[in-house]
Amino acid sequence: MTELLTDVLAVAREQVLERGEGLTEEQALACLQLPDDRLPDLLQLAHEVRMRWCGPEVEVEGIVSLKTGGCPEDCHFCSQSGLFPSPVRAAWLDIPSLVKAAVETRATGATEFCIVAAVRGPDEKLMEQVRAGVAAIREAVDIQVACSLGMLTQEQVDELAAMGVHRYNHNLETARSYFPQVVTTHTWEERWSTLMMVRDAGMEVCCGGIVGMGETRAQRAEFAAQLAELEPDEVPLNFLNPRPGTPFGDLPVMEGTEALKTIATFRLALPRTILRYAGGREITLGDLGTRDGLLGGINAVIVGNYLTTLGRPATSDLDLLEELSMPVKALSATL
Ligand code: SF4
Repeated sequence: MTELLTDVLAVAREQVLERGEGLTEEQALACLQLPDDRLPDLLQLAHEVRMRWCGPEVEVEGIVSLKTGGCPEDCHFCSQSGLFPSPVRAAWLDIPSLVKAAVETRATGATEFCIVAAVRGPDEKLMEQVRAGVAAIREAVDIQVACSLGMLTQEQVDELAAMGVHRYNHNLETARSYFPQVVTTHTWEERWSTLMMVRDAGMEVCCGGIVGMGETRAQRAEFAAQLAELEPDEVPLNFLNPRPGTPFGDLPVMEGTEALKTIATFRLALPRTILRYAGGREITLGDLGTRDGLLGGINAVIVGNYLTTLGRPATSDLDLLEELSMPVKALSATL
């Protein structure tokens, strides 16, 4: 067994590190099944792949919630769904607060500012807010604006692209085969079709998901392969932080070693993508694991608070990047 699994890393070294070709689904599964004593080798290889194909820079992003809670969808992990008795109530942010958040985000050195709304897709009121918000941010501060507003129509895609929104986030969340266990109010294919429109309109595609939602390792490998097929510019990787009142509220938190194997495997499946730590890493990995992930394939972080749970303070992440000699990616390099 060990010989076969060691072999997977040897194959990956030649295929991914030397040639830049990501792992197949089967190879990803073999990596996820590596015994714990092989984890340091897996992380080391993932780090080498990241340095070789992405470089040492780390992309820093801030996110803000323009519309929080009250979503009509039933994603079982999400405390913003209006269908569960979770404690997040619907609220809107005003434009001056949005601009203030963008200015504060830029001050941390971040180059990306993502406007998020808890909706199935934007209605005219939300599009109007986004129009006004993007214009006000562009007026006030030099930062790339991204949006995450759910499923889009072709018209909305075209309008966001015309506004200069340079990246759009829409997560597939999990493997296609597991999606019906996670969401019943819309399909994986509907999400995929928004992603295709976004790509065709020339915006960068940001697409990731959440691991630790009860999917099998085989489904995690399937998800990595499906993301690789999409070729997103960025993959935010969340670890389930079970929220009270949601259908997944009682699931166990993923083991730290399992989370690190997942990070490294996703890096080997997606050698060139921006792989971002998103929500849930504090509860899954703690401070020590945060460092291991940054040395195991992660090359982007979110500063400050997440949407409904507290993240680490911006400075502790930025201090860690400095200590690891990983420069924050400059704005000029992203334009
Ligand atoms: S994940 Fe998004 S679409 Fe799903 S319930 Fe939460 S806010 Fe709504």
